[in-house]
Amino acid sequence: MHPNPIAIVTGASRGIGRAIALNLASHGYTVACVGRSLEQLNDTVSTIKEKSGNARAFSVDVTQASAIEEAVTQIENEWGRIDVLVNNAGITRDTLLMRMKTEDWDAVINTNLKGAFLWTQAVIRTMMRARYGKIINISSVIGLIGNTGQANYAASKAGLIGFTKSIARELASRNITCNAVCPGFIETDMTSVLPDEIKNKILEQIPLRRFGKPEDVAHLVAFLASSQADYITGQSFVVDGGMVMS
Ligand code: NDP
Repeated sequence: MHPNPIAIVTGASRGIGRAIALNLASHGYTVACVGRSLEQLNDTVSTIKEKSGNARAFSVDVTQASAIEEAVTQIENEWGRIDVLVNNAGITRDTLLMRMKTEDWDAVINTNLKGAFLWTQAVIRTMMRARYGKIINISSVIGLIGNTGQANYAASKAGLIGFTKSIARELASRNITCNAVCPGFIETDMTSVLPDEIKNKILEQIPLRRFGKPEDVAHLVAFLASSQADYITGQSFVVDGGMVMS
């Protein structure tokens, strides 16, 4: 690993992405924190800086190719390299298929899947030149098992797993690895909107008898980003307290 590694984390303004950004910064990475809400991104950056880390906010919508290109050019010009990309930005638009609008489908696929495609395409030239890179896609257990009311989300997350395997094959000869992480139920804004009744039902299905914390996911991401994971590529790792076992 380079002595001054650079990581890009999308969706770093809160939740899992924020925890990933903080964790990578604590391991010495300079972190490009990507999201739409600049105020929340700046909060992540300030927290990193308070702990003597290095980070910068990039207010970029992950569905906008030209804004991504611009941010990547800035990162390359300023820091000279890109070691790690974490495609974490994601949304839900839950509803039964019968009621799902095309806009619900498009919004979820564009953010969760196309966003990862655009960011990955934008960084790989730099990684290929360096013959080094770690790409980590945040999928979901829902991408493995599906879920009622989440056809769009499950398709996007299963799509990310196929994308991960393909990129792993395409870029392995350049020493670039690509892996997916599939969280179960993690306590963030995304899951706080669920009614208690549903939360309790989910809790019953978790052998470790607690919901996950963003940090539970961040620890695995930090490992996959490190040189300790140099020989691991094309894999999907579940972090869910034992909810889904294959
Ligand atoms: P949150 O809703 O807490 O955070 C989502 C993040 O994504 C925010 O930082 C948000 O920033 C960013 N984001 C959303 N849309 C865009 C966009 N168009 N452009 C840029 N950034 C965007 O979600 P979580 O932290 O819970 O989820 C993070 C990832 O983990 C997601 O991919 C999610 O699907 C996945 N996951 C979560 C699970 C959970 O239980 N929480 C379980 C399994 C997977 P902003 O709004 O500022 O743009």
